[in-house]
Amino acid sequence: MMLGYLLARAGVQVTVLEKHRDFFRDFRGDTVHPSTLQVFSELGLLEDLLKLPHQRITSASGVFGGFEFTMADFSHLPVRCRFVALMPQWDFLNFLAGRARQLPGFRIEMEHEATDLLWNGARVAGVTVQTPSGTQTIEADLVIGCDGRHSTIRRCSGFEVIDTGVPIDVLWFRISRESTDPEQLLGRVNYGKALILINRGDYFQAGMIIRKNSFEQIKQAGLPAFRDSLVRIAPLLSDRVDELRDWDQIKLLSVQINHLRCWHRAGLLCIGDAAHAMSPAGGVGINVAIQDAIAAARILIPALLGNHPIDGVLARVQRRRQFPVRVIQQMQRQAHLALARVFDHPGPLAAPWQLKLFVRIPGVQRFMGRLIGIGLRPEHVRNLPGV
Ligand SMILES: Cc1cc2nc3c(=O)[nH]c(=O)nc-3n(C[C@H](O)[C@H](O)[C@H](O)COP(=O)(O)OP(=O)(O)OC[C@H]3O[C@@H](n4cnc5c(N)ncnc54)[C@H](O)[C@@H]3O)c2cc1C
Repeated sequence: MMLGYLLARAGVQVTVLEKHRDFFRDFRGDTVHPSTLQVFSELGLLEDLLKLPHQRITSASGVFGGFEFTMADFSHLPVRCRFVALMPQWDFLNFLAGRARQLPGFRIEMEHEATDLLWNGARVAGVTVQTPSGTQTIEADLVIGCDGRHSTIRRCSGFEVIDTGVPIDVLWFRISRESTDPEQLLGRVNYGKALILINRGDYFQAGMIIRKNSFEQIKQAGLPAFRDSLVRIAPLLSDRVDELRDWDQIKLLSVQINHLRCWHRAGLLCIGDAAHAMSPAGGVGINVAIQDAIAAARILIPALLGNHPIDGVLARVQRRRQFPVRVIQQMQRQAHLALARVFDHPGPLAAPWQLKLFVRIPGVQRFMGRLIGIGLRPEHVRNLPGV
């Protein structure tokens, strides 16, 4: 959506295909980071974006066993918004789609699922699309595969996926929130489990991190046992765990980390999770995908507008974005390994000395705030055509 908006704003004809009827999905995270808010400021869209209901978090904290600590502080970042905005992703996407629809070159087709690639010899020349009124083909000078971690486009393109394996999955559910509950992002680790509570106003979006493929086992132990485990790790939920009455309220989100060896071929480029599926660790995947979109726009617009050969510039997008993505994925892997060790200790946990030492290093919270909030090699839209 972001790349479609930027291309159309520069005068490129774009069609965005979305397989669902709307954006009302609850599985993609809700964090709009300072780097993304900065880009919206550069685009002149920030004030209107921030009129949408959202919560602001200026720090991310944790409780490991009984040890409370702050992991990241966003309040000193050298950007306009020194906070992470927590905003339902459907609101964010609807906002961007609404702005994009005002641009003459932009078209969005909902309930249009790309099912295959069209080929002109060895070059990708468009897509086959399943629509409510049947199968269609759409030809294009360039196809961008940005269809997420289960990408059809990358599967059809024959790209090599390098998968490093992940030891965790996430159980994703809502539970009500009182006005007296903590406002900042809260991670809790204890009794062999880890729980993230994301403030969404009158409810928490909760993520229980579990050992990969262990959901069936958890279900067999029963919902009362699951509720008990929640209360043990987060006693503040004791008066509302009964809201969880059915396993249908709890969704299993399968976590992956992988990347394509090569993100492009003639006529095709993959970005976002389609090029490199991100884990929820650090809540950065949306913002990394947006950074990919900005880098791609900067590199593609001159070729697309100038009718220069497009295929020759595609490798530059991967070269620009590969390093920041790999570093963040490596950090996510380390976080997973640390979490996987927790699963082996079902009793009360004490924080490891390494964590206690790490959070006491002067300036570490600001450093982590910068890494999570802005990331490496941040992209800007200031010099993009049409901006
Ligand atoms: C449990 C979990 C929690 C997460 N929490 C966070 C978080 O809090 N913050 C954060 O920054 N990141 C989070 N992430 C990571 C984040 O969700 C992704 O990194 C990010 O959404 C990637 O964006 P994307 O645009 O590449 O793909 P997506 O957001 O997955 O978007 C792909 C889009 O393409 C559509 N689509 C798919 N296939 C087709 C098709 N064939 N034809 C047409 N349309 C199609 C989909 O419907 C979707 O709208 C989380 C990930 C997981 C697994």
